[in-house]
Amino acid sequence: MISVKTALDIISEFPDTYLFEEVSLNEALNLVLCEDVFSPLNMPPFRQSAMDGYAFRYSDKDTYSIVGESKAGDSNNYVLKEGEAVRIFTGALVPDNADTVIMQEHVERVGETIHIQKMPSQCANIRKTGEQIKTMDIALKKDTKLNEAAIGFLACLGITTVTVYKIPKVGILVTGSELQKPGSELEQGKIYESNSIMLEAALRKTGVKDIEIIRVKDDYDATKTSIEKVLNTKDLLLVSGGISVGDYDFVKEALLENEVEELFYKINQKPGKPLWFGRKENTYVFALPGNPASALTCFYIYALPLLRKMSGYKNNQLKRVIANSKTTIKNPSGKTLFLKANLEGTTVEVLQGQSSAMLYTYALSNALICVDSETAEVKINDEVECIKLEL
Ligand code: AMP
Ligand code: MG
Repeated sequence: MISVKTALDIISEFPDTYLFEEVSLNEALNLVLCEDVFSPLNMPPFRQSAMDGYAFRYSDKDTYSIVGESKAGDSNNYVLKEGEAVRIFTGALVPDNADTVIMQEHVERVGETIHIQKMPSQCANIRKTGEQIKTMDIALKKDTKLNEAAIGFLACLGITTVTVYKIPKVGILVTGSELQKPGSELEQGKIYESNSIMLEAALRKTGVKDIEIIRVKDDYDATKTSIEKVLNTKDLLLVSGGISVGDYDFVKEALLENEVEELFYKINQKPGKPLWFGRKENTYVFALPGNPASALTCFYIYALPLLRKMSGYKNNQLKRVIANSKTTIKNPSGKTLFLKANLEGTTVEVLQGQSSAMLYTYALSNALICVDSETAEVKINDEVECIKLEL
């Protein structure tokens, strides 16, 4: 049995190679660039007016005659003589030999003549070519997570696809002969299967789109065949249940038979002691304990950071904060505890009902208190570490 820290250290060594893919920009939200993106053009690509007004050659005259019009999208490039101006609008091409734009509020127009009432400084109100970015400059750096602004920015450079860290494809293998899919009347001796939909929801929140759920009974052959299928098609496998030491727990054996290398098994923690982690080539496997609260805790603490790292994200652990405990916590077990809790400001309260079979408490909690294996007791008002359940 290893410590929580050792388990996290082992996981943090992976992935050792990343998978990339090219996606169109409209599918790139929240994905992470795996290479620098260079600008294919100057932005703006030409000198643009920043105002509705008049473009002219700066001089000490205060009267100019209007010789043409340049509206957004026009390609006309007027050649102005001294004393001439062009009616111009925001975003329109500024004639090459005009150097200044005056906003329309600062002139008096009489017919085809303008009288300047408030002279701007020379070069005012013109967006210079390449003022935002120049051709072949880095537009966005490797490891940038693309938000909506970044996507808009790349689009304004004419970019339509980007190469990003591939979001893992995930298989969820649910084991258990007692499990029944919700939707029909519950049979004697069975319970409704809840881990798959719960893990699927958590995965979706993390940005995973490709999720396949497979359900098997506690049957060695079916487990083995299903694992083989997922290993061939997915980047991450989450197995639920069947990883303890019961006579009908076949998952570990089936994983090893599929040549998945064991990286650790069993952590000194509560809940979630029988967590198993392994890999086969570029596919990683977490065999999560079947008890729903254990499965979810193991997902948050161990699977999520790896998943996020594979996706190119930088801050992969759930956020931890320190708060004062409103409750006394006893920890005679010498294990690290993850307790479902309610965090409010700087105080945190352990909730009733910590059994790993219960999801009810989890549904009401917004944090896990992490009590270190060395800490035998937390007194009221002591500082404790809290893991915020915000994905
Ligand atoms: P196991 O880890 O397979 O020994 O399962 C531990 C406990 O969790 C048992 O009481 C199972 O019935 C329950 N359990 C396992 N898998 C699920 C699941 N997918 N949904 C709900 N409960 C489950
Ligand atoms: Mg089971």
